[in-house]
Order: sequence, then structure tokens, then C-alpha cells
Amino acid sequence: MSDFPYADRFPVNRTLPQTGRSQDEVLAELRAMASEEDQFWETGKCSGTMYSGDHEHYRFLNEAFSMFAHVNVLQRDMCPSATRFEGEIIAMALDLMHADAVEDGTPAGMVTSGGSGSILHAVLAYREHAAQNRDSQHRGITRPNFVKPETAHPAFDKACHLLGVELRTVPVDADSTLVDPAAVAAQVDDQTIAILGSACNYGYGTIDPIAELGQVALEDGVGLHVDGCLGGFILPFGKELGYDVPPFDFRVPGVTSISADTHKYGYSLKGTSTLLFRDKAYRNAQYFHLPGWSGGKYMSPGIEGSRSGGLLAATWAAMVRYGRQGYLDYAREIFATADRMKASVRSHPELRILGSPTFCFSFTSDAFDIYLVNDHLRSLGWRLNGQQYPNAIHLAVTRPQTRPGVADQFEADLADAVEHAKKQHAAGAGAESGAVYGGVAGGLTDEVEEFIVAVMSDMLDTQQSVPPAPGPA
Ligand SMILES: *Cc1c(COP(=O)(O)O)cnc(C)c1O
Repeated sequence: MSDFPYADRFPVNRTLPQTGRSQDEVLAELRAMASEEDQFWETGKCSGTMYSGDHEHYRFLNEAFSMFAHVNVLQRDMCPSATRFEGEIIAMALDLMHADAVEDGTPAGMVTSGGSGSILHAVLAYREHAAQNRDSQHRGITRPNFVKPETAHPAFDKACHLLGVELRTVPVDADSTLVDPAAVAAQVDDQTIAILGSACNYGYGTIDPIAELGQVALEDGVGLHVDGCLGGFILPFGKELGYDVPPFDFRVPGVTSISADTHKYGYSLKGTSTLLFRDKAYRNAQYFHLPGWSGGKYMSPGIEGSRSGGLLAATWAAMVRYGRQGYLDYAREIFATADRMKASVRSHPELRILGSPTFCFSFTSDAFDIYLVNDHLRSLGWRLNGQQYPNAIHLAVTRPQTRPGVADQFEADLADAVEHAKKQHAAGAGAESGAVYGGVAGGLTDEVEEFIVAVMSDMLDTQQSVPPAPGPA
């Protein structure tokens, strides 16, 4: 499919139109694109991304959003409602993460623009705290480093890149997909600001040994961030339902911050996440202020300047609309659907699930290239995510998969796909989707870099620039 399917159907705007168009015409054009694009995931065949998928809920969120969309929450004197929304979102998220158990700090939090936003602010907070903190044994850290398990989200690499923090990556165990706390400890030195564990990681849906990492953090006097961007709003309910979810929240000694995305299983609009701290000293360390500016005294509690009140209102609305019972009910359906889908995978001896995953799982094959399975699933309308080292495909189960018939369809389509893969493998055929998703042999070649730059440029430019995908096939 072209990246520019609308170029033939609607005007391409390369300049501001000289005169405006009617509202009806503009809305009709938007409606056409939105409804066609929604059909793609409404089948339930798309992994992750549409966490709610419930148009009635989206209407509710959009109504909440619309009342405050135009409000700039940086100017709190004009919108005390934003203070209510943000404070209550943080309080409810802290409660979910059992901040009530904290005795060695004053829990606090902030609402950010998404998972990457929470992670960026967390790394900034640790860097600033470690640089400023006068009482800490790490006072005045000038060459900060941060330690992550390889499976942790690239947002950590991005944050460290942006903030001038050295990132140390620890490999994970191939079978369990989990990090060895001793290997993390071995990377910690006197310039380490924090370590991290995921609950759960995006690739495999597995939960790092947070309790043991907490011991490392306490022994070495460093922070421990728990990346609950994906799991934060669903794992606590999975645990309540009796699923095997090891402790990962503030009850675990040594956990100093947690990110939990409201725009994933919190079922809010895209553009929101929570970042929670065991102690407000971390959060407060990253505040920015420029009191001497000629334009007036400036301060911002996070990296963004102006922010929309609509996103705070919608997130607050989602949380109070559902409450614990609502989140629990959806978690029950999602975990049950994930169990059924994992059972479908396990029914094929050629397939192997990686580690002990939760509502999100990944599988590979030792019998054939798993991308042969992905090719066939794609031809049947499925959109699973490709992984590498080893090649694998993953599915984050969301509410659209819990609809009647979707798990049955997965079972049937997966069986067909396994047959397809066996035949293709026997015939010596390569996988098509492997070229896009599969491990890039030899790392980042010039050819691959050119391709990646072109793909990103296509997201931003009005003209096609993507060259053919580079090998290996
Ligand atoms: C999605 C995700 C992130 C990043 O979140 P964005 O909202 O995409 O910026 C970080 N960590 C994990 C585990 C995630 O699943």
C-alpha cells in the first residue's frame, strides 16, 4: 500500500489554500479517511495500538476533550480544573501502584505526553537529582550512566541520547527473556543514576525480576525505574484475577519511579501517560524555571510548554468512568483471550512462545522462519509485530481481540499459516515480511540507514521518497 493513498482523491496542500473551504467539506474529507482507517483494526486482527477500540467510549472521551481542548494548562490561574484533573489522575495512579505503602518518601507524580515522555522525564529527573542532591553519596554526578536490560523500550535509548546520559545495555537470558540482576549490578558504578526493569516489556510481555533489581538499587544507592508503560494499568488487575504477576509496584523496596501509560490500558486518548515517583525530590529536581527572563518569570513543571487541557480532562474522565471494577472487567476479558491465543500457539509443536508472558506474548519457530507464518497471517488481514534476534512475532492483546469470534479466527488462521510455513520452508522459499521486520545481518549498513531515513521522511513529506526495502530477504 502507498503511504500517500489520498493524493489521487483529495487535494494535496503544498501551500496554505488561498481561500478556506467549507466546514462541511473539510469534515466530510476527515470522516472518509477516519472511517476507512478504522476498518483496518475493527476486525480485531491488529496487535496493540487500539487499546479500547470502543467507539462509544471514544465519543465519551472526545466530548470530555472538546470542553477543554483549547485550554493551555500552563496557565493554571485560568484553569483550576486542570489542577483538579492532573492531581487526581496522579493520585489515582499512585494508589494503583500502592504508593500508600511508601514509608521512606513522599510519593508524587506528573502527567506526560506518553510513554516516551514519561521515560524522558524519568531519566531527566534521575540525572538532575544525582547532579544536585547534596546529601546523597552520589552528589555531583557529572558523567551519568543508566543501565537497561536489552528488552527495555528504545525510549530509554532515546532519552539517554537526548540527555547526554551514557546507556549501558545488559543482555537477557534467551529462554526466560529476563535480565539477570547480578549482570545489572556488574554495570553499576559511582556514576550510575538509575537502573530499570520492565513490567512488562513490549517485545515479549515478560516481567523482569523487579524485587531483585530493587535489592541491587538499594545496595548500590541508585534509582530503579519500573517501566509499566504497557502493563501499569492492566497487570495489577491481572494479579487480582489470580494470574501470576510478580510484585513490581511501590511495595517493592528500591523501586523509585514507575511509568504507566493512560493512553494504553488506561483507555484514554493518545498523548497521555503517568510518571510516578517514590519521593517528590526526584520529580522536583527536573522542574525548569527562568525567573529573570524579560518576557516575565517563566517556569514549566516538565519538558513541554503549553499543553492541552483536553487530554487531562479525557484521561481523568476515562479513569473515573471505569473505576477499579471497569478496569478489572476488561482485564478479565483480555487475560482470558490472551490465554486462548497462547493455547492456540502452543497447540503447534513447531511454534515456541518466548518466556512466560502475560497479556502480550511473542513466539518463534525452530522448524522454519517465523516470518513465513507472519506472511500468511498478513495476507489474512492480521497485523502482528515483527521482532528480531531471534526472529519472532508478537501480539499485545487488547479489547478488540476480546470480541466474539476473534480468538477462534486466530486459531484457524494460525493453523493455516503454520501449514503455509511448512510448505514454503520445504520448497526453500524465503519470507516476504522478513525484509521489513527481520534481523538486519551486519547491523546498520549505509543502505539500511538510507531506508530508515526515507521511511521517516515519508511520514513528514508530501512526496514519496522510500527506496525499495534492503535485504536480507
Ligand atoms: C509503548 C511503550 C513505551 C513507549 O510509549 P509511547 O507511548 O509509545 O511513547 C515504553 N515502554 C513500553 C513497555 C511500552 O510498551
